[in-house]
Amino acid sequence: MLGIIGAMDIEVEALYERMTETEVRTIAGMEFHKGKLEGTEAVVVRSGIGKVNAGICSQILADCYHVTEIINTGVAGSLKAEINIGDIVLSSTAVQHDVDAGVFSYPPGEIPGLGIREFPADEKLLALAKECCERVNPEIQVFTGRVASGDQFIDSKEKKTRIHDTFDACCTEMEGAAIAQAAWLNKIPYLIIRSISDKADDSAHMDYDVFEAKAAANSVRLVTAMAKALSH
Ligand code: SAH
Repeated sequence: MLGIIGAMDIEVEALYERMTETEVRTIAGMEFHKGKLEGTEAVVVRSGIGKVNAGICSQILADCYHVTEIINTGVAGSLKAEINIGDIVLSSTAVQHDVDAGVFSYPPGEIPGLGIREFPADEKLLALAKECCERVNPEIQVFTGRVASGDQFIDSKEKKTRIHDTFDACCTEMEGAAIAQAAWLNKIPYLIIRSISDKADDSAHMDYDVFEAKAAANSVRLVTAMAKALSH
């Protein structure tokens, strides 16, 4: 069973529409849509925004649906000049940019006691995503790199530069690393797929409103192609 998480309606609605044999169950206020996506058994869910929602949602996928992989689909702010609006970033690893226990000598992003700073994504899902993306989204660029998540909408050059310089991350958003952490704790392979809606700078809010839907659609197209490939 494949688990697919999007934070917002716009990131998952098109997936619900493509599903067949759907059964919906509400847990913790989240609607879990279980059925078939392009022939693959899948549960698609809108987690809500932020790391706590995303972590809770992932744990429910693990406990109640015994998912074998988790994909996080959605939009994000770019942290690098060469990564443009519409392009896709696939996670190599994910880190929480708002975790700071530096006073105890932990590096930025590392949660005390966990023994790991960033959570590695699954190589097989990554390879599949790259291959599918080049096929279904040929007009955009696809990058693989670190995803930095935190409970903040990043909308200034100053905040963007801090995250980029501290973590050398490709994009920033508000859920991915929480899903990655939950996946790591539960030993479930995961991948974050994010299409760029804005550049996380002073024009982020304006760009986000304009490009959110198009960016979300690029990510959905890729996830759909991956579900199809997984059904074979
Ligand atoms: N428009 C929504 C709020 C969106 S918050 C509302 O009014 O309720 C932004 C969402 O997009 C989050 O889910 C986050 O993961 C992602 N995102 C896109 N660009 C981002 C940025 N620059 N900083 C942080 N998150 C971003």
